[in-house]
Amino acid sequence: MRSLTILGATGSIGQSTIDLIARDPGRWRIEALTGGRNVALLARDARRLGARIAVCADPAGLGDLRAALAGSGIEAAAGPAALAEAAARPADIAVSAIVGAAGLVPGLAVLERGGTLALANKETLVCAGPLVMARAQATGGRILPVDSEHSAIFQALAGEDVAGVERVIITASGGALRDWPFERLATATVADASAHPNWSMGQRITIDSASMFNKALEVIEAREFFGLDPRQIEVLVHPQSVVHALVGFRDGALMAHVGPADMRHAIGYALHWPERRALPVARLDLAAVGSLTFSTPDPVRWPALALARAVMAAGGTMGAVFNAAKEVALDAFLAGRIAFTAMSVVVERTLDRMLPEAGPQGAAMTLDLVMGTDHLARIRAGEIIDRME
Ligand code: NAD
Ligand code: MG
Repeated sequence: MRSLTILGATGSIGQSTIDLIARDPGRWRIEALTGGRNVALLARDARRLGARIAVCADPAGLGDLRAALAGSGIEAAAGPAALAEAAARPADIAVSAIVGAAGLVPGLAVLERGGTLALANKETLVCAGPLVMARAQATGGRILPVDSEHSAIFQALAGEDVAGVERVIITASGGALRDWPFERLATATVADASAHPNWSMGQRITIDSASMFNKALEVIEAREFFGLDPRQIEVLVHPQSVVHALVGFRDGALMAHVGPADMRHAIGYALHWPERRALPVARLDLAAVGSLTFSTPDPVRWPALALARAVMAAGGTMGAVFNAAKEVALDAFLAGRIAFTAMSVVVERTLDRMLPEAGPQGAAMTLDLVMGTDHLARIRAGEIIDRME
């Protein structure tokens, strides 16, 4: 039996993880489950799976969580510090399925104890890639990618020498608004941007798919995780979402990872790695799919991709600025304060404002530096939004 912690258990990736382990009785013992505000779902799953501890990120939820777990013998805790403590508890593998920069500290806590982190939370690497990779190296902690494109690259690299890699190609569906006339994008509502054509995911990443910010984060994630030069990472729009990523080698070979749009594949691969075990994902019928198409992303429609390139060129803690500004801009779009197309404007202006403070830094990256930069970038992005209204 292996022990498992799920950070962000109540979300889309968290629930898909629980679906997998519930189908595999007797294989997993649950150490900790964490959630944000959905205390009822957290308590239900903690009871159902026999977790040792359940933690909600929102301190106000502690009373309800305690009440919901009464008599179960399951420990209850709340707040960000309790979340990091839960992550630090020994477990064979911890899945990080928290959304946003809030995933950084708990993810690091897993690595600090030399643990294995199945990482869906791409923000961890975007905000603090050099720090996170250095800590993993120092402690013997291991990161297994769960983001589908990165899992695809990881799988294509199995048994290969990374030195032989020429390039990687990450695919993007283009999101909910891909076929909208460009002139209409500014009028897109939250509901419009939340209707993903292929993947069922949390609302924030779904909107990030429509704006291409998700792919922008993933390019940075790939650079940090695989140690690639930014020029080696390409993005192609692939509306069918069947090819998740491709790896090109110096002999000209291109290895593609092909499968249905079901995150349980990438999650299951990480959970069972290095073994391949049977997974309940649909088998792809390529004849039914018929044709696969690829195109170069339009830089005018999707400015987020060029912003990611600028962030990588600038270095320092600009990744943390980029993510923080994107989160604040997304909050403002969700609140109806700014237009869909204004999100990239907010991010671009925040990057410009923060470059002198967050750009190239000689000193090693620290958690305090990243958190301070994240905090300041949120203030600056908020000021920029205030001035837009
Ligand atoms: P989601 O919104 O469905 O779930 C997020 C989880 O994080 C929930 O459990 C929520 O309660 C928790 N959470 C939210 N705010 C928190 C906070 N401040 N502190 C602690 N916990 C908090 O999101 P999701 O779609 O499952 O995505 C999770 C992560 O995985 C994101 O980083 C996303 O980019 C990445 N990812 C998701 C998918 C997908 O298919 N959903 C695919 C690839 C990568
Ligand atoms: Mg992805």
